[in-house]
Amino acid sequence: MDGNMKLLPLTISCPACNSQDVAYTCSPSCCFNHVCANCYTTFEPFTRALGKELSLGDLPETEVDFSRPVVSCERCHHLVVYSIAEDEALENKLVCASCHMLLELDFSRVNSR
Ligand SMILES: [Zn+2]
Ligand SMILES: [Zn+2]
Repeated sequence: MDGNMKLLPLTISCPACNSQDVAYTCSPSCCFNHVCANCYTTFEPFTRALGKELSLGDLPETEVDFSRPVVSCERCHHLVVYSIAEDEALENKLVCASCHMLLELDFSRVNSR
């Protein structure tokens, strides 16, 4: 584990209003459509691999919780991805629980209502 890096369950902020009250509405075999409970914008989050693996040691095996936001690792398509907290240089970055790739979150198909 690098320094005081701390991993948190993935949170996604609505790209339109920044609310974290977003819900996954589909299944990974179809798409990653989410909806914001605050402004009803729909969007599909995706990740970009940043080409750097973090040395995290073994991460706890975690079941994907589809009642929470879900995104897949661009490199290995694993569905358990953590947010990184308490490291300003890595703010808003994610890490894949399987291949430990450092990831950046982005959005496609953003549709405001
Ligand atoms: Zn919103
Ligand atoms: Zn991965």
